[in-house]
Amino acid sequence: MNCIFNYSLQALEDKLLSLNLKKYNAKQIFEWIYKKKIFDFKQMTNLAKNTREVLDKNFIFNLLTIVKVSSDKKKEAIKFLFKLYDGNYIETVVMQFNYGYSICISTQVGCNMGCKFCASGVNKKIRNLEPSEIVLQYLCAWQYLNKTKKINISNIVVMGIGEPFENYNNLIIALKTFINPFGLQIGQRHITVSTCGLVPKILHFAKDMPQVNLAISLHAANNNLRSSLMPINKVYNLNVLIETCKKYVKMTNRRLTFEYILLKNINDSQKDALALVKLLKPLLCYVNLIPYNETNLCNYSRSDKINNFFNILNKNRLLATIRLERGTKIDAACGQLRIKECQKKKF
Ligand code: SAH
Repeated sequence: MNCIFNYSLQALEDKLLSLNLKKYNAKQIFEWIYKKKIFDFKQMTNLAKNTREVLDKNFIFNLLTIVKVSSDKKKEAIKFLFKLYDGNYIETVVMQFNYGYSICISTQVGCNMGCKFCASGVNKKIRNLEPSEIVLQYLCAWQYLNKTKKINISNIVVMGIGEPFENYNNLIIALKTFINPFGLQIGQRHITVSTCGLVPKILHFAKDMPQVNLAISLHAANNNLRSSLMPINKVYNLNVLIETCKKYVKMTNRRLTFEYILLKNINDSQKDALALVKLLKPLLCYVNLIPYNETNLCNYSRSDKINNFFNILNKNRLLATIRLERGTKIDAACGQLRIKECQKKKF
C-alpha cells in the first residue's frame, strides 16, 4: 500500500521523479502534511491541479483509527488505543511534564524479547509497524489533542511496545520524518530510542542517528541475573554489550542512558548498586532508575529501596536520576500498554 506517511523526504522526491513530477513538490507535500497537518491532496493549493490528480492516484492517507482515549484526572498522561488497517491494536501515551509534552510510541504489534518483568511481551510479536504507523502515532495524537487546546509535542520516547531495533529500517525512516526540517522538525536531542541491547544495531544507530539519544535497558549488572530477567542477554551478554557501548560513545561522543528498573529483592541491594557503579563508571553515561510498575501478569514487586540505591550511585559519582512517573493509574505505564484490550479481544 502506498501510504504517503511511509516516505522519507528523499524517498518521496525519488518517487515523484519516477512519476514525472517535480522533485520540489516533495517538500511542498511534506510541509502540508507535517507542518499544516493537512491529509488531503485537494487542499494542497500550491500544487498544480494535474499534479494533485497524479498524487491522488498514487498515494493514500491511511490514518490510524482512534478506538479509545483515556487519561488520568490531572491529564498528565493520555493514552490512545489505535486500530491499524489490518485490525491490530497499538497504544501510544502522551505525557505532560514541566517542559512540555512527550509522546511514548510503539514500534511493533506485541514483542518477542520476553523480558520477565514486562507485560508487553505476554503478547508475542504479530508484526513490525510500518514507518507510517510509527509516524502516525504522533500525528493522530497531535490532531486529537489540538482539537481542544493548542499544544506542541516536543519530545518523543520510543519506549512503547516492541523492540525498536528489531524493526530497525522502519524506525530509521520514521525518525527521518520526525527530524526533517520540512517534516515534524523535532530536535534530534529531544528524541530517545530505547533498546534491550541488540548489539549490532547499536553500532548502526551510532552511524545513522548519532544525534538521537540512545537508552539501553540494563536492569542488572551481572550476567546471571540479567540472563534470568532478559533472555536477550544470552545472545549479547554484558561484556559484549558494554564493549559495544564504549564504541558507541567513541563514535558519537554522546552520553548513553542506562535504564534500571528497581525490583524488590532482585536487583536493589547495596551489592547490586556497587556492581552497577563498577560496570558503568568507565562509560560516558547516566542511569535512569525506574520505579517498577507492578502488573498481575508478572511476579515482581516495586523496590522500597529506590532512594537508598540512588544515594549509593550518587556517592560513587555515577550520574543518576529517578524516573518521574506518569500514567500508572490508567495502565499507561511502561510494560502495561495494550494488554487489557488484547485480553478482551482474546489475542
Ligand atoms: N524494547 C525496548 C523498549 C520498550 S520498553 C527496551 O527494552 O528498551 C521501555 C522500558 O520500559 C524498558 O526499559 C523496559 O525494560 C521498561 N519496562 C518494561 N516493563 C516495565 C514495568 N512493568 N515497570 C517499569 N518499567 C518497565
